[in-house]
Amino acid sequence: MAETLVFFRDDDVGELTDPLRFHLDLLIEFGIPCHYQVVPSYLDAACAAELRRRKAAHPDLVHFNQHGLHHEQIVEGRVEYAEFAFGRPYEDQKKAIAEGREQLSQQLAEAFSSDVFTPPCHKYDAATLRALGDLGFSVISAGLRTDWPARAYYGLGRALGRVELLGKRVSYHRRFTPDARLAEVSVVVDAHEDVDGRGVRLEKTADDLWSDFEAARRSLDAVGIMTHHQACETPAKQAALRSFVERLAADPSVRFGDLLDLQPSRAAA
Ligand SMILES: [Zn+2]
Repeated sequence: MAETLVFFRDDDVGELTDPLRFHLDLLIEFGIPCHYQVVPSYLDAACAAELRRRKAAHPDLVHFNQHGLHHEQIVEGRVEYAEFAFGRPYEDQKKAIAEGREQLSQQLAEAFSSDVFTPPCHKYDAATLRALGDLGFSVISAGLRTDWPARAYYGLGRALGRVELLGKRVSYHRRFTPDARLAEVSVVVDAHEDVDGRGVRLEKTADDLWSDFEAARRSLDAVGIMTHHQACETPAKQAALRSFVERLAADPSVRFGDLLDLQPSRAAA
């Protein structure tokens, strides 16, 4: 079987909890790199100190990047978790991203990598990309679908040079976004989120995760897996993630990498 490159991205990091320690320990035990996306306003001093210790001990296995500023905004009196959606003006987005970056630089110091940005809820627009480019980020990581309608829609959107089309985001996965400064490297497997036909949330077993991974590798030669460590809060859920990771690690056609390995080459741009 052809080789599949696998990378991990874990979101919503900020508080030092047992599920976060479990997640860090699990992937380090298997020697698997992971990009942890930190929400500046969630990050407390104890967690920052722990992340810095982890980075010093395993510099090639843990990467700490920025995930918004507050992970929410107020839109017409409602709390929306998509911090950079709903047409926020460019200056406003840039100010929030710069403020978050400054906070992480202060709290994480050398453990913070300011190259990758993950927009909360994978929602962003052309103003977000412009702000990220102006602030010197090089990669945006969001989500991607591989079903044929999504592929056709992305293809059309890219041909038109659009960031959004008909209200939905166009993926430029492993390509440069239209403003040419940022590359997109997105995840395709969500380790936890699943809903049944009636919209009820389901918990994925290790077998469900493996099926998702197999489906993704049929259309991609590199598969990004998104986790939310806080979802691994019970022994059963931790066992499911461990068993999936063990199966990946035992597969001779899987090679682990980090998200930056999937950037398109700058020279080719
Ligand atoms: Zn998030």
